[in-house]
Amino acid sequence: MLLKDKVALVTGSTSGIGLAIARSLAAEGARVMLNGFGDEHEIETIRKELAELSGDLAAYSDANLADPQAIDAMIARCTDELGSPSVLVNNAGIQHVAPVESFPPEKWDAILAINLTAVFHTTRLCLPSMRQRGWGRIINTASAHSLVASPNKSAYVAAKHGVAGFTKTVALEAAKDGVTVNCISPGYVWTPLVENQIPDTMKARGLTREQVMNDVLLAAQPTKRFVTPVEVAGLALYLCRPEAGSITGANISMDGGWTAQ
Ligand code: NAD
Repeated sequence: MLLKDKVALVTGSTSGIGLAIARSLAAEGARVMLNGFGDEHEIETIRKELAELSGDLAAYSDANLADPQAIDAMIARCTDELGSPSVLVNNAGIQHVAPVESFPPEKWDAILAINLTAVFHTTRLCLPSMRQRGWGRIINTASAHSLVASPNKSAYVAAKHGVAGFTKTVALEAAKDGVTVNCISPGYVWTPLVENQIPDTMKARGLTREQVMNDVLLAAQPTKRFVTPVEVAGLALYLCRPEAGSITGANISMDGGWTAQ
């Protein structure tokens, strides 16, 4: 198995894209640390499922990624219980949709903290042991919004552009150490994050639910279908393969052609 005896920390993996990535890494033997929020019984079921998939340990941290001390504690616990991560997937993210003049400052701060600053903290804490081992994979879930903008998403677009720039910088710093650093930039993926922004977009633009899905979300995507979490997970797994050793500093789109337009 590709990731036997390797440890993978996947932030925001109790749902959506992160959960699909956690499953695909565990299926290749990785000891996975899950992170994110949700129902504790459901999360325990997922943790057990991952341990079964890998035939090894799996753990869960409820660290709030808006809190740098909690990130520190999560990585210390991961290192104690599973080993130091050699695959780090920075995937946790939140969204808020509102015009910039009425964008709540506390939402701005939260989006920047979780979607961007947490990526800095996990990276700075995990990189030293990857370097020492001479092998590491840092995979950041960015977004088509790391490349292009949409109205009413100022904080998210700013944060995701930041993730893309941060990814390139760390890729250069780690280039000689066997550590690759990349981002995956999906278009719209059908997950709770997208579903939850439909009511706000309806309000902001005065549209019905169907209009938001077809005229706002899928309007951007020439394939006219949502990307699936499993497709994103397949690319994350590919980036862990030896054949992907020269892919670093890349921002790989998986957006049904959105940013090709
Ligand atoms: P999701 O809402 O299904 O999952 C988000 C995960 O992050 C959950 O596990 C949640 O508990 C966790 N999370 C949220 N706040 C957190 C916090 N403060 N601390 C720790 N964990 C926290 O969303 P998703 O669509 O799977 O999004 C995953 C990533 O993919 C995000 O970074 C998002 O920006 C990105 N993305 C999503 C889409 C899409 O269309 N769904 C498109 C492009 C990029």
